[in-house]
Amino acid sequence: MAKNSAKRERDAGKGDELVFAALGGLGEIGMNTYLYGYGPKNERQWLMVDLGLTFPGPAEPGVDVVLPDLRFIIEDRKSLAGILITHAHEDHLGAVLDLWPKLEVPIYATPFTAAMLRAKQGEFGGKLKLPIKEVALSSRFDIGPFDVELVSMAHSIPEPNGIAIRTPLGTLFHTGDWKLDDAPFVGDPPDEERLAQLGEEGVLGLICDSTNVMRQGSSPSETEIATSLTDIIKAQPNRVIITTFASNVARVKAVADAAAASGRRLVVSGRSLHRIISVAIDTGYLPKDFTYLDQDEYQHLNRSDVVLLCTGSQGEPRAALSRVADSDHQAIKVSKGDTVIFSSRNIPGNEKAIGRVQNNLALLGCDVITDSEALVHVTGHPRRDELKQMYAWIKPEIAVPMHGEMRHLKAHAKMARELGVKMAVPAINGDLVLLAPGTPGIIDEVPCGRLFRDGKMIVPGVDGPVRERRMLSTVGVVAVSIVLSRKGELVCEPEAAIDGVPDETTDEHDMLDVILDAVEGTIASIPPAKRQDPERVREAVRRSVRAAVGDEWGKRPIAKVLVHVVDTA
Ligand SMILES: [Zn+2]
Ligand SMILES: [Zn+2]
Repeated sequence: MAKNSAKRERDAGKGDELVFAALGGLGEIGMNTYLYGYGPKNERQWLMVDLGLTFPGPAEPGVDVVLPDLRFIIEDRKSLAGILITHAHEDHLGAVLDLWPKLEVPIYATPFTAAMLRAKQGEFGGKLKLPIKEVALSSRFDIGPFDVELVSMAHSIPEPNGIAIRTPLGTLFHTGDWKLDDAPFVGDPPDEERLAQLGEEGVLGLICDSTNVMRQGSSPSETEIATSLTDIIKAQPNRVIITTFASNVARVKAVADAAAASGRRLVVSGRSLHRIISVAIDTGYLPKDFTYLDQDEYQHLNRSDVVLLCTGSQGEPRAALSRVADSDHQAIKVSKGDTVIFSSRNIPGNEKAIGRVQNNLALLGCDVITDSEALVHVTGHPRRDELKQMYAWIKPEIAVPMHGEMRHLKAHAKMARELGVKMAVPAINGDLVLLAPGTPGIIDEVPCGRLFRDGKMIVPGVDGPVRERRMLSTVGVVAVSIVLSRKGELVCEPEAAIDGVPDETTDEHDMLDVILDAVEGTIASIPPAKRQDPERVREAVRRSVRAAVGDEWGKRPIAKVLVHVVDTA
């Protein structure tokens, strides 16, 4: 039975509170970064669970990845006891290399996740030395004031961990990403017994994955996918090309087994696949004798003897499959009658890019098989019946839905209430949620936001250069150069250049002439005494150029005006 809350509150220190906040992951699927706080209001100690990234949308041109804005915890980093990573997906650990230098706290991870972090650290140029504390599966240890126990789950990558977080004010269970799967194909099934025991011990709050809350039923097992892939591959007369999420070791093994069962050789193409295979062999998730051929061997194999596993399931333009579809890959060609299997789902936002690749493959005469035609992919997240089972085991007093967009979080909170949970709190990034003592709910806000990795730099998400870049991508730019004497007279003719603006007006005048007429007219209209103020000239010209192009084009460009003041003899 659960300890009753009055008893728990007597056990805790005076004024102690147990709180939760997300700096990413609530109101979005991605960038998971969660904080648990314990202690009196101004002296809380924090535990960070995951430090993930997300990928930019079309309104974020040129951005490589999106990172959480950690300023809230950076300001208070002495009270951050550590970072615990639940599993090795990018949306849970992808921001560690970029942001750890601002935190400098220990990172706790199980062996596979730790090995993935080390592999990435190696690729980062070896400058960074992360203090990774490797912890065993199902282990229990302290991080600051938190007594933490790992519970093995199933997901789409080895070693997904749920975390029981025990405090004097109650126990929380943070699920991480999970599903139920009796036959996960690689790794052990979820530790259902431990989940039920936790529920018996008493859990105050369940912080739980919401990704598939709208989907009824339960998800198929990874082993069913492996069987189905084998059947499909055996039935193909020519080459088989398969793309999947590189991190899904079980799927990699399923494809390798299917290749072997159909008497074909496995060829692997794509850096992230090579990395995960090497980490999986080192950590025992793939056999030591796991063998495959490199992409250069592909062209020497008969069409009926090959299964090619490659990256690019999301239509990423630089990935192997996109280049194959564009007939632009140095080592891999496909031809009429080959089969391409997308053993993946379309991540929202990527549909157009994926469609482009699939259309190009179809143009080359390939048969394309996706998860809408055949059992070639399964989700790594719990559907509704699996969620219900989790609530039946854990029996929490409070539900805080996570890992979802707002519609998922709301639907999850509603379902939790229907299942009899007393309090469900659909919070979003930046909400500070009080879990105990007293009535749970949102009590405050903490700063949060998005940062962009932009080339070698990390820049702000809201007021940074990407905002201007977005403008540039819709309207283009006009540059004007003006040389004035100290008296404010034009020393030479102004010059202008345009990028992304039409060269000619609708009545076939040169756009540059329109611009230069506007520049000269504006300068002439400014009284000579006032022309001695370059800033005034700059602003007047900027406005008139935008207006003049706007009159012709119907759109106002960005205008950049350089005013040089020179001494004249
Ligand atoms: Zn995941
Ligand atoms: Zn995730």
